[in-house]
Amino acid sequence: MSSIGAVSSVDDMIALTASSSMLTEPRLTVDLDAVGHNTRTLASKTTLMAVVKADGFGHGAAEVARTALANGAIALGVATLDEAIALRAVTDAPILAWVTHRASDFDAALLAGIELAVPSVDHLDAITRAARTTRLAARVHLHLDTGMARDGAPREQWLTLAAAARRAERLGQIDVVGMMSHLGLGEKPGHPATAAAVTRFVEAEAVLRSVGLRPAIRHLAATAAALNEPAARFDLCRIGAGLYGIGAGLREAMTLTAPVVSVRDVPRGTPVGYGHSYVTDRATRLALIPLGYADGIPRIASGNASVLVRGRRTPLAGTVSMDQLVIDVGTLGVEAGDIVTVFGPGDDGEPTIADWARWSRTIPHEIMTGIGSRVVRSVA
Ligand SMILES: *Cc1c(COP(=O)(O)O)cnc(C)c1O
Repeated sequence: MSSIGAVSSVDDMIALTASSSMLTEPRLTVDLDAVGHNTRTLASKTTLMAVVKADGFGHGAAEVARTALANGAIALGVATLDEAIALRAVTDAPILAWVTHRASDFDAALLAGIELAVPSVDHLDAITRAARTTRLAARVHLHLDTGMARDGAPREQWLTLAAAARRAERLGQIDVVGMMSHLGLGEKPGHPATAAAVTRFVEAEAVLRSVGLRPAIRHLAATAAALNEPAARFDLCRIGAGLYGIGAGLREAMTLTAPVVSVRDVPRGTPVGYGHSYVTDRATRLALIPLGYADGIPRIASGNASVLVRGRRTPLAGTVSMDQLVIDVGTLGVEAGDIVTVFGPGDDGEPTIADWARWSRTIPHEIMTGIGSRVVRSVA
């Protein structure tokens, strides 16, 4: 066969493929020591539920869960039941899920021992049905809206919900272990909306007591309020962003690197990329990075962003494409194979996720959770 000659070099080909894929592979490295440090720092201020929804904000839910629980978190919080049930394989710790609907598989949730937020009588009915089917009492957190009109029960429905929960508790179908709400302006220290929410929360607890419910775990604050609003801490804070390094004194855990795949030397006046939004103002070198908006690099950051290469910040040149971006590296002597740091904890002058969020007019949460599935992750 004509390919016989090539067979002897299959190993070479595999080696070549492996090394060239290493050379062309963007990589997201997650530093679990940073997550551990952040957890300990926050756990010294508050009792901490580690929020690991959306795959641990893109860091790896199982790994973050284990790390947080080993460093002082006492429970896990997620959005969906699927996320919660997957985590049951990792730990026996309490796991709370708060985004469900009446058709959710509450039987599976109860069998896995998942705690459930209850924002409506509809939810409660579905959960008590599951309790009858499984003969297991559901551990629930009654969920109130204190002023963001999102997922908690409206205040005018609270007493009805409380009374129904009390009946279900008497029947042994549920244990009301908690009450919760969420803040819409936790990011703004001292905002009156937060004080109003705290007041509503306390009033709502009195309503529960009036029907004979005594939830042991009252929780209102997420990261920002846990750091800035002691009055909002109650018995537990649901900490997401903080675990991942968002907040004063905390350390970002993600580093995104990518190789330069090619360079080209161009004269002054060279337009770069879609729309020619960037035109070189001098003779310079352009370097191509195999990361684009499909990988979570926000296109809107194009005019503002920079990355670190050879120890220097270099600006993006032109618009981020779906799979590629170009940087203007001037006279730094950048060559194909050089590694570019897109973001990291900032130790070496690289941009942080907080910088990318600012450049993109969004919050760090969106940058973290937006890293695409093509990017190889290593968690250590
Ligand atoms: C996502 C979420 C959190 C975590 O918020 P951070 O600001 O990331 O700490 C807490 N509570 C609820 C209800 C959430 O949806």
